[in-house]
Amino acid sequence: VSKIYHDSDADLGVLNGKKIAVIGYGNQGRAQAMCLHDSGMDVVVGLRKNGKSWKIAESDGLKVAEVPEAVKGADIVMILIPDEVQSAVYSEQIAPNLKDGAALEFAHGFAITFNFIKPPQNCDVIMVAPKSPGKMVRQTYLEGFGVPSLIAVHQDASGNAKSLALALSKGIGSTKAGVLETDFREEATSDLFGEQSVLCGGVTALIEAGFETLVNAGYKPEIAYFEVLHELKLIVDLIQAGGIMHMWESVSNTAEYGGLSRRDAVINEDSKKAMKKILDDIQSGKFAEEWSQEWKVDLAGMKEMESKDADKQIEKVGKEIRALFERN
Ligand code: NDP
Ligand code: MG
Ligand code: MG
Repeated sequence: VSKIYHDSDADLGVLNGKKIAVIGYGNQGRAQAMCLHDSGMDVVVGLRKNGKSWKIAESDGLKVAEVPEAVKGADIVMILIPDEVQSAVYSEQIAPNLKDGAALEFAHGFAITFNFIKPPQNCDVIMVAPKSPGKMVRQTYLEGFGVPSLIAVHQDASGNAKSLALALSKGIGSTKAGVLETDFREEATSDLFGEQSVLCGGVTALIEAGFETLVNAGYKPEIAYFEVLHELKLIVDLIQAGGIMHMWESVSNTAEYGGLSRRDAVINEDSKKAMKKILDDIQSGKFAEEWSQEWKVDLAGMKEMESKDADKQIEKVGKEIRALFERN
């Protein structure tokens, strides 16, 4: 088992007197900026003036500046804007204003691994990647804890890069939960693989296929919704809390026997071959290239696929059902 870093491995003192510019105030930016601010850090949020985040950051009580102003004089620049705009914002607004020896920090290894950002030699390039949506980063921090994070050092110009990454992890509460070290490429490629084949792609395809199978066989959509979507969280919670065996112990023997004896019909060697192909395309840079073509057409392909998903019956039925079963 790899070393897990906790509070005692990280020293917030290395951030003393350092100015931190958090670029972006969305999922991760808002959560991380607020946590670092509450941890006593000198934080300025870098944004565009006409965007909708500006007022939100101000009303949260943070200093806000346009990206070039925020970057000037910052010792650490945290790049927490969407992956698809990082390359352009970096080259136009960050790089020209980056102080000599400043550290660049990322929450995902994508831009560095696939060369969308090429930082100068004289700066530290580090990553703190919370393995969680931003909302949970903030919520667990407020509960006095944190979410697990991965850290990585891509460039260590100061000789101090890893302690910076550990300190930033501590500032957002992650060293309470535990921090693992990785490298940019491992984080970027495994994160893409996870979200494509299991977490976001795989799970939604599984749900939709199950729903359509039941409905096409004449089942009420409401019943199908509960069976294949609503209950999923309860099962996943069991797996997350205690592993797959804990889930098997917690469901009926009927469910366990049926699940174990039938699952290979759905996910099998063919599915693994397909997953390996997904991984190959990520590792070779093919996916990154395809995704970067999407940026040039304002994500038109993504929006088209998304609108097909939005039109599906499961989405419409789900909206109605969730409203009916809301706690009032
Ligand atoms: P978001 O999509 O939530 O970022 C939106 C923010 O970026 C807004 O504040 C927006 O400001 C700002 N922004 C967008 N375009 C620009 C621009 N051109 N100039 C200045 N600001 C801009 O990003 P996420 O938090 O989802 O992702 C940030 C990074 O964190 C990514 O690298 C991602 O992979 C990584 N990550 C994300 C996770 C998550 O929870 N979503 C989990 C772990 C890692 P405005 O209001 O002005 O549009
Ligand atoms: Mg991701
Ligand atoms: Mg059941």
